[in-house]
Amino acid sequence: MPSALETLVKILKLEREQGCENRAVIGGLAAYSVTWKLEAQEQARHAKHHVLAEELTDLLANYEQVESQLERIKQIDYMLDRIVGREPIPEKYKDLMGEFKQSSPPKQEKKRPAPQKSQRSEKKPEPLESYGYDNIQPVDKQERDIPEMPRLARPPRKVREPISIEDARQRLEDLEQATTAINGIGQSKAEDLNKMDIHTVDDMLRYLPRRYDDYTDLRYISQLSPDEIVTVIGTVAQTEVRIGRNNRRDFHMVIDDGSGQMNVMFFGQHFLIRNIRKGQQLVLSGKVTIWGNRLQMSSPEWEALDSENLHTIGIVPVYRLTEGIKARAFRRLMKQTVDQFANHVPDHIPMAVLDRAELADIGWAIQNLHFPEGHDHLHHARRRYIFDQLITLQLGILGNRRDWQAVPSESLTVDDAWLDEFLEKVFLYELTGAQKRALSDIRADIAKEVPMNRLLQGDVGSGKTAVAVATIGMALNNRKQAALMAPTSILAEQHYRGITQSLENMPTDLRPVVALLTSALTQSERNSVYRGLDDGSIDVVIGTHAIIQDGVNFNDLGVAIIDEQHRFGVEQRAALRGKGVNPHLLVMTATPIPRTLALTMYADLDLSIIDEKPPGRQTIDTKMLEPVARERAFNFIEKHLELGRQAFIIHPLVEASDKIDARSAIEAYEELSQVFYKYRVCLLHGRMSPAEKDEIMGAFANHEYDVMVTTSVAEVGVDVPNANVILIEGANRFGLSQLHQFRGRVGRGSHQSFCLLIPDNLTEESEKRLKAMEKTDDGFVLAEMDWKMRGAGDLLGTRQSGTHVLQLAEEMTPELVSLAQQEALTIYAEDPYLEQVEHLMLAEKVRILLNRDGGDVS
Ligand code: ADP
Ligand code: MG
Repeated sequence: MPSALETLVKILKLEREQGCENRAVIGGLAAYSVTWKLEAQEQARHAKHHVLAEELTDLLANYEQVESQLERIKQIDYMLDRIVGREPIPEKYKDLMGEFKQSSPPKQEKKRPAPQKSQRSEKKPEPLESYGYDNIQPVDKQERDIPEMPRLARPPRKVREPISIEDARQRLEDLEQATTAINGIGQSKAEDLNKMDIHTVDDMLRYLPRRYDDYTDLRYISQLSPDEIVTVIGTVAQTEVRIGRNNRRDFHMVIDDGSGQMNVMFFGQHFLIRNIRKGQQLVLSGKVTIWGNRLQMSSPEWEALDSENLHTIGIVPVYRLTEGIKARAFRRLMKQTVDQFANHVPDHIPMAVLDRAELADIGWAIQNLHFPEGHDHLHHARRRYIFDQLITLQLGILGNRRDWQAVPSESLTVDDAWLDEFLEKVFLYELTGAQKRALSDIRADIAKEVPMNRLLQGDVGSGKTAVAVATIGMALNNRKQAALMAPTSILAEQHYRGITQSLENMPTDLRPVVALLTSALTQSERNSVYRGLDDGSIDVVIGTHAIIQDGVNFNDLGVAIIDEQHRFGVEQRAALRGKGVNPHLLVMTATPIPRTLALTMYADLDLSIIDEKPPGRQTIDTKMLEPVARERAFNFIEKHLELGRQAFIIHPLVEASDKIDARSAIEAYEELSQVFYKYRVCLLHGRMSPAEKDEIMGAFANHEYDVMVTTSVAEVGVDVPNANVILIEGANRFGLSQLHQFRGRVGRGSHQSFCLLIPDNLTEESEKRLKAMEKTDDGFVLAEMDWKMRGAGDLLGTRQSGTHVLQLAEEMTPELVSLAQQEALTIYAEDPYLEQVEHLMLAEKVRILLNRDGGDVS
């Protein structure tokens, strides 16, 4: 049974891990202190223990009153240090010693044999006075000379030696050298790295770990219990090759660390007998199991204990690799690169900004992104990294906007009477207030000689298309052409049909010629559209990215519109804008982005929001269900299928790999085909070609199928009014915005619609998020919540943001985004062309960013 002190150590550590919210024990530490004291006093072996128990009880009792988190951390650390004897008894409590003298006679304390020590550790002093609780970790770490993870409230700041801009340029150029400039990388290794798209030193430094293995938990063998992932340091006591099953030759060894012994197995790796010798000191990290009645690790990470334990101690980076490059070899190369170049990277952010924003130096940040010294270090390193991306992006966007707006557009105007008549003739309904506001924003924009660049955000079903149609109408009234680009053929066709029909009702003299342009057209059909656009006989073109192909030239393009813009890349947006002479641009999205984030990501776009739904819209009945209720959900779906309705079943992306996802989607499809054997079930997944996807989507829309099983691709805003149930498996894995998008697939017809959410793992946080789905159907509220709870990762699809900002997007907090935005605006206001000496490097970074992304970043 653990002693009272041991239990307390565990609780204190837990409390610290949980952020010092006084939640480690139910009822709080003060309440706990009462029972704890009784137990501790009973177990106390001598006066010193009594006094310690007394002091700790006092500290526990007043813990609630400690106000700041930092002070709480300090208090916990102090308590832990007192327990292991790193802190002396305070004067105040020394006086108590006498009182407890008689209570229990001091016993002879048994000393456990000291563990084997590395040469270095022998120089270390023994711990002061441990209270005999020497299997409590802090003591162990000290005895072993393994540094505890260092803590860091704020990043350290080196005094920066001033360097000339020439030097800085030179250093930047050095970073552009081929990887062969790194010691230990020759031609053949460089070629291996090329396969990972690493060509230069800079590429290497930017190649961030995919994740980290946390080997900060160093233990004595005597303390190990099964299933823990830990690190052990010990001496090889025995080695042998054993013949295993099927004549496999396994390497087996026994590790002894003075506290106990552990078996280590490497299946099939008999050759290790040549690398590992008896008496050698090793560090081993891995999962502990029980084999027979002994502790065992199977194929752990291991390395010799030396000054630089890259693979087994502390927070170890794990990189994405390709064939031919081994994890350990790559880690060593990275270490070499970081040692050689991290401090060579010139810092492009002015010192004053770093100070204001409490950001780390660039070299320090790079070092800690790859080889974090501690958890706090990693946090600060990431902060700096994201800040860099954000501020560069922001300055790039601001500069772009300025340059782009310097080229005038044509002013397009319409008068009130015309617009009123148009709206009345073309739409069978009255526009909502929000639609009218958006339209008047647009009308004011295009009347200027500065090109419009507006983002129209509105929930699914909020009526963005009507606004687009009216915008097209205004262009036509000015005898201009208009283009609308959608992400998929099926959506383009849907728009083509709908918009053609609306424009039929236009005043006769303006009735336009509308063409559809997708990759589904034959070459000759396509050529005829090309000709029509070029000579002006086609007024409006609606299509996919086929619109931005090279052969497409406009006679006189007035406005360009992009629907579901988050599904396009920045280059595609730029390409559409590049058609014609600076057309006015309207981009539309149904993925609401919180305002602060939108202002950064789309700093060059003006924002209109449709925050009002057309009247009479039903709300979709949303329910979160336990996995055990799945059966009921299926019955529910079946009931609606019987009535002739259709259903979507969303299967989550389980792995980052398309291949695995496709496989698991196929499995789910087969299972569900059995469940709904009476109905026609179809499958749509990410590995299908766009043509296949379109075909299936089309067939489903035509009710050739009853149930669609799909991964996230169903996001595309195609209308299937007859579908009224959507079931989302693994709902906890999705961001709220994404769930909301899915939900928008139903409720498009007159039938009451339902959204069923089945989580596969329910934490307190995910429950809160899914409950929010039940409560609100406001996409903005949900996006804001996502943003606060999970960072920007869910909100920024790959396509939405371009690769440069996506790295670490999950760490992109509102705080950091506004910080970067504020600093960028300050710099821009003061020095818009980034010409001052302290901004030259930043200008360079912006230039590199713009070049990399084809000159357009928003
Ligand atoms: P989204 O914003 O998702 O693109 P749509 O433009 O497809 O939304 O509009 C969804 C539906 O709402 C369409 O069927 C459209 O005809 C209808 N609608 C749009 N605006 C109004 C309105 N002001 N009053 C009534 N119905 C409207
Ligand atoms: Mg739409």
